[in-house]
Amino acid sequence: MNAIPAIHKLDAGGTVSAGRNQNGVMAGGAAGQPLTIAIDGPAAAGKGTLAKRISVHYGLPYLDTGLLYRAVGRLAADSGVDLDDAAAVGRIAATLDTSHLDDGSLRGREAGERASRVAVHPQVRAALIDVQRRFAAAPEGAVLDGRDIGTVICPDAALKLYVTADDQTRAARRAAELGADPVTGQPRHFASRRTLDAWPGGQDQGGNPGNPRSAPAPNSCKL
Ligand code: C5P
Repeated sequence: MNAIPAIHKLDAGGTVSAGRNQNGVMAGGAAGQPLTIAIDGPAAAGKGTLAKRISVHYGLPYLDTGLLYRAVGRLAADSGVDLDDAAAVGRIAATLDTSHLDDGSLRGREAGERASRVAVHPQVRAALIDVQRRFAAAPEGAVLDGRDIGTVICPDAALKLYVTADDQTRAARRAAELGADPVTGQPRHFASRRTLDAWPGGQDQGGNPGNPRSAPAPNSCKL
């Protein structure tokens, strides 16, 4: 098995040693199998919050997969690459260094918008599959959240959760993250991100890259 990339240390709050919970108990699935937990769902539904809590509870490493797309978008922009140039952005994704994902600036609005733009390219999604699967292959298991985790990245996860919330709740959550528009009272950029994320060319069930709509895996537990 390939070594787990440096993102392995990205656990929830840095307080948990990978593989052990706060009581020092090894985490794991049934019969010592890795406990891989895939959390999917639309933007701002709360999957990240849930994923962090679960990772702390079970002492598992956590990967917020949105950070990968955010990092690719930023790298492309910093290199002067057109975010709509699928081949060029795909090459950047293929050589992504995952050791700098804990940079707080990746959490910002601009990084999120760039992430949505680059995530539509099949080349980018394909390039990021291996990184995510290597992370998910940690011997004790792992928690990953983001779209297509339960369908494409970890179809054999021990547990698949699909987290949803109504539009109003999601909008309020996004507003709290980004700030509301003072004129409309609406969350900034929620609608444009939602449009980008609903790119119709996506595929999400067949294991093929594409920008999938966030869809529950067939055997997921919906929350
Ligand atoms: O979850 P986060 O807001 O960080 O994701 C940023 C964007 O990256 C999403 O809106 C989506 O367009 C894209 N993304 C994706 N697949 C993932 C994670 C994120 O397409 N697994």
